[in-house]
Amino acid sequence: MSDLVETKQKTDAWHSFSSADVEKKLDTSVENGLTSEEATRRLKLYGENQLKEAPPPSIWKLLWDQFNDFTVMLLIAAAFISLIVSVIEGHVEWTETIVILAIVILNAIMGIIQERRAEQALAALKKLSAPDAQVLRDGVRQTIPSPQVVPGDVIFLEAGNYVPADIRMVETVNLRVEEAALTGESLPVEKNDELELAADAGIGDRKNCAFMSTMINYGRGKGIITNTGMDTEIGHIATMLQQVEVEQTPLQQKLDQLGKQLGIGALIVCGLVFVIGVVRNGFTGDVIIEMFMVSISLAVAAVPEGLPAVVTISLALGMQKMIDRHALIRKLSSVETLGSATTIGSDKTGTLTQNEMTVTRLWVDEKFVEVNGTGYAPEGDFSVDGKAIEMVNYQGALTALWLGVLNNDSELYSKEVEGFKVYGIIGDPTEAAMVVAGAKADVGYMDLLKAYPREQEIPFDSTRKCMTTIHKVNNPQDADISPFKATDKNVHVVAVKGAPDMVLDLCTKYQTMDDEQKPLTDAMRKKILAANESMANDALRVLAVAFKIEKKIPEEITSANMENDLIFVGLQGMIDPPREEVKEALIHAKGAGVRTVMITGDYPQTARAIARSIGLYREGTEIITGKQLEEMSDEDLVKVIDDVDVFARVSPEHKVRIVQALRAHGDVIAMTGDGVNDAPALKQADIGVAMGITGTDVAKGAADMVLTDDNYSSIVSAIEQGRIIYSNIRKFVYYLLSCNMAEIAIIFIAILVGWASPLSAIQLLWLNLITDGAPALALGMEEGDPDIMDQKPRPSTEPIINKRMTIGVIVQTIAITSVTLGAYWWGHHIENVAAGDFNVLASTMAFVTLSFSELFRAYTARSERYSIFKIGVFSNKSMNWAVLFSLVILIGVVYLPIANELFGTTPLDLFHWSRLVPLIFIPSIAAEATKAVVKKMKLS
Ligand code: ATP
Repeated sequence: MSDLVETKQKTDAWHSFSSADVEKKLDTSVENGLTSEEATRRLKLYGENQLKEAPPPSIWKLLWDQFNDFTVMLLIAAAFISLIVSVIEGHVEWTETIVILAIVILNAIMGIIQERRAEQALAALKKLSAPDAQVLRDGVRQTIPSPQVVPGDVIFLEAGNYVPADIRMVETVNLRVEEAALTGESLPVEKNDELELAADAGIGDRKNCAFMSTMINYGRGKGIITNTGMDTEIGHIATMLQQVEVEQTPLQQKLDQLGKQLGIGALIVCGLVFVIGVVRNGFTGDVIIEMFMVSISLAVAAVPEGLPAVVTISLALGMQKMIDRHALIRKLSSVETLGSATTIGSDKTGTLTQNEMTVTRLWVDEKFVEVNGTGYAPEGDFSVDGKAIEMVNYQGALTALWLGVLNNDSELYSKEVEGFKVYGIIGDPTEAAMVVAGAKADVGYMDLLKAYPREQEIPFDSTRKCMTTIHKVNNPQDADISPFKATDKNVHVVAVKGAPDMVLDLCTKYQTMDDEQKPLTDAMRKKILAANESMANDALRVLAVAFKIEKKIPEEITSANMENDLIFVGLQGMIDPPREEVKEALIHAKGAGVRTVMITGDYPQTARAIARSIGLYREGTEIITGKQLEEMSDEDLVKVIDDVDVFARVSPEHKVRIVQALRAHGDVIAMTGDGVNDAPALKQADIGVAMGITGTDVAKGAADMVLTDDNYSSIVSAIEQGRIIYSNIRKFVYYLLSCNMAEIAIIFIAILVGWASPLSAIQLLWLNLITDGAPALALGMEEGDPDIMDQKPRPSTEPIINKRMTIGVIVQTIAITSVTLGAYWWGHHIENVAAGDFNVLASTMAFVTLSFSELFRAYTARSERYSIFKIGVFSNKSMNWAVLFSLVILIGVVYLPIANELFGTTPLDLFHWSRLVPLIFIPSIAAEATKAVVKKMKLS
């Protein structure tokens, strides 16, 4: 056993050691983290950082579930009773019993395969949505999947992260953690790495540690992973957490209910078939047994027991398709909801725009300074009134750049790609743009941080809309920069940046271009706001920078005691071009009856300019700001919400109200979000959409869908896919329902008019196996009608069996029943026997007609509204294979002598076929005609 393992087992009380001791005991380095070799070794030793899942149900349990059904049990019992009766009567009839059992088992296996497939698809999706962790390895900060972290890893945490393992903190900056998942305590706990606690401190008191599955609510920190997987505190109680019930989606529930109702109906009809059959054919043992078998088989065939599994498979397959289109679905039910979405509430930054910011304009002391250059390359000049300038002569503008660089968590890096220098950023693009602008004026990030090292900070949050950092003054002379006239080493620089109106409210002075400080008069405030507005009108995102010098910094810094009495320095305006593909996606969404509302923290003018450029804004409509929203009643908001395309200056709390108002207005809303505070709005929305790249774990955890490319267009694609999946589910419900109804009608009518049952128990079961299986699944693979995105959204209350489907089912039931009974009657006619007597040729003709017409009409079921010729007869390859496979088997059943014996069939000759072929196509032709008529009737 390695030393490490021994230490770990002895020490579960990591909170009782100093962070330096923990570093030593876990043989790691806070500066450089583990080496990758060591991390690999530890991963082997401790295993993946995952809570063990409850084992999947065994194959026997699954098999039992397949048989654990009243009608199937009855069928098996009937098969055995028939065997026993035949034994008593002295002519042992094995075949029927064995064939029935074989079909039942085959059916069960099909069921298991379908369920397994559905489960596997879901498990694969779950894996994909596992969160990432930021660790330090080989001295480099990197992102790895959280199952890969090991004890000793040095990890970074920030607001919005889920804590991936148990951690002893080594650095905490206002770190607050919500530990409700572990302790039940809903108030966030403030963490402090400097504490050393008694070994027996309870979990809730271990304030120098953070625990797996809890959530960072505020601030940031760094720590060493002490325990992973089942060794974590949550791992100790994980057994309780693993029994998560998989919830059925509303559609599955509805179909389940429908299945049950149909089942009861089928049982009643089958009961009648049995009673009438026995009454008609005499009370002999043989008749009773035969009628019992036929009616039970009919019940088994008619109950659409496969529906829920087929629904799950189509939903899961659809989810996989959505992954290719950058939308990861976290909840099966959202696939359905997506299909009926009427409104998208979208963030602006990064979702509608590229989130690649470039500072293009500064405003300082009543002067606009233009900045040129593109992207993140720190190359560009400054000019005023079209003339190039030397920044040394514009000290105030330099101070504005310096502040933007100091108050910053992002990094700019460069690398060589095919001989070219390429620049990239780590962190928030808004902040990176400021680093780049500073670099254009030779404001070196590292020099500045050396001269003014950061001591404390109040992180950005989207309600305050600003961020503050507090810096010590080290050696400003050495770094040859003294923008804040703070040569005294005992003072601190408080740097603030944020939304201009917010920052301006905190200022009492302003600084001129010559670094002089003057009182901030109302007139100056107006000028600043006017400059802000003019920049915003040009679609620029504007941030203000301000600072102050403080002699003494209080022990506990808060927004209230730090963000006041500031000196306003200037504005930085940055462009964030719209995403190219958004314009088209918006048109697409509009055509599909889906409205898009922009909900942004940015300024109304900036928001309007961007909204206008992508075609989202309807000229003349009002833009509602967060402040106006606060003054409005809920009722008023609902009244106007249809006429608002842009909400600006909103905080996450406002988003919740917008979602509620849209829902009250009757909309089905997909709402985007990325921050910790967006979680409530995401939960309230019908479909919460989180950003995969910039989103926090908390937002992703609260969302129903995650966009892996943060792109608005992906929501529109997901809606399209949602519609396709829903329409495919309708298709196979329609198909299965009409096949089953027809089967019941055929037997019922035949018995009622005194004919012998046209189909035997075995034939019915076999047919059910063939039609319930492959063709139904193939319908789930349809690509969707060509104009699926030209339709209005489906009302979420619309029942799955609507008028259109009811008509279709009735027509098909009549058509299939008539042709099958027609073939049966014809068979008797050819053989010249009375229809009341059983005839093998007639029965085979009925069987063939029914099977073939069902298989062919599977093709017409491929579209509810479009003619089969319009969508291309053979365009669904899965359908071609499914039908071909089924046809080959059917031909076998008709022509193979052994099959003739087992299935009670007889080979057909050309003459027979010449009579059957026209009949076989009638249901398909009727289906196509129904489409045309229903289209004329303009039914939904
Ligand atoms: P959207 O909601 O469309 O993504 P947004 O990014 O502007 O828009 P928030 O992130 O809530 O929304 O930002 C709100 C405002 O806060 C911004 O308009 C900006 O003025 C300011 N802001 C954004 N990022 C920072 C930051 N890192 N530091 C300081 N202020 C910021």
